[in-house]
Amino acid sequence: MVFLHAIRYPLYAGKVPCQINSIPLRFTHVPKSLNIRILQKAALCFLAMVFVACRSDGDDGLSPLRKKFAAFPKDGLRQTPILPTPNENIINSAYLGYTARTPGNDTYGMPGWTRNFGSRFHKGADILPTKWTTTGENIEIEYVDNKTHDSFTRVEKVKIPQDEVYAILDGKVVVENVDQRRSGYGKYVILEHRWADGTPFLSMYCHLSRIDIDQGDVIEQGTQIGIMGQTSSNSGGRRFLKAIPHMHFEIGRVIDDNFASTKAARRLDPPNFSGKYDPRNIQPYNPLEFLKTFGAITHGEFQDRRKKPAGTQKKQESSAGMLFAPANQSA
Ligand SMILES: [Zn+2]
Repeated sequence: MVFLHAIRYPLYAGKVPCQINSIPLRFTHVPKSLNIRILQKAALCFLAMVFVACRSDGDDGLSPLRKKFAAFPKDGLRQTPILPTPNENIINSAYLGYTARTPGNDTYGMPGWTRNFGSRFHKGADILPTKWTTTGENIEIEYVDNKTHDSFTRVEKVKIPQDEVYAILDGKVVVENVDQRRSGYGKYVILEHRWADGTPFLSMYCHLSRIDIDQGDVIEQGTQIGIMGQTSSNSGGRRFLKAIPHMHFEIGRVIDDNFASTKAARRLDPPNFSGKYDPRNIQPYNPLEFLKTFGAITHGEFQDRRKKPAGTQKKQESSAGMLFAPANQSA
């Protein structure tokens, strides 16, 4: 897959392509005995490997893992997650498990795929609001039909989403971005949680209008993080969010703990302001698979469980209290 990615691009001027160009010349002037052919193949193989290695580190220098879903650890979670918003349809098969689909483009908003005929890897799930107000304003949006690639415009009502956004698990607020100009994700929050085996992972809540927690806070599952919104540094994104408001929701893990000191991190545009928690240093898990696999419950069900008899509740609380222990203690 990496190799296919590499050969799709033209050879750029530079060290590796020059080596590749010089090889055929050298080999066309020698008799093609069996040994030479084997040597030739081995040399080309080696160069291909060097080329792939350079490509994955070249370009923007970012890890290809950021465009590939990771597998869940086999021990899973010690806490049942709750849905990040009041929208229960995101894990309802009648809705095909994904949201924020648009007319003529039914993969928009689905993890792994998005606009541009699925050419852009979409790490998150775009969750539609259940509550919104309209402003009376209309907006013209250009859509592209996923099958025919024809574009067409539709006039949509401008909607302002009102849904609450909740922490899916106990966790720590590792990023609170209140300045929408910093990122295409707009105002967003990243929480850090632990798998049952003690390794950390993240959940991310984007395009919020309001954030109700602070960076560094340790918060309980179900805490209201903020309110769904339409924020983004990108004017096209903001326009689209006016017609199709949604919360971009991700689950992921840090790829490189030393990311902030890498050359790639220093070259980022927009700049990295959150160290190793920069979204470009996060490998995603499929967020809808996550919610389905670990049996996410609604915020209402969560509240009901909390109201259960004292004995049950105490047990839940004491196990929840351990969930965010440091990795070395919980392993
Ligand atoms: Zn999205």
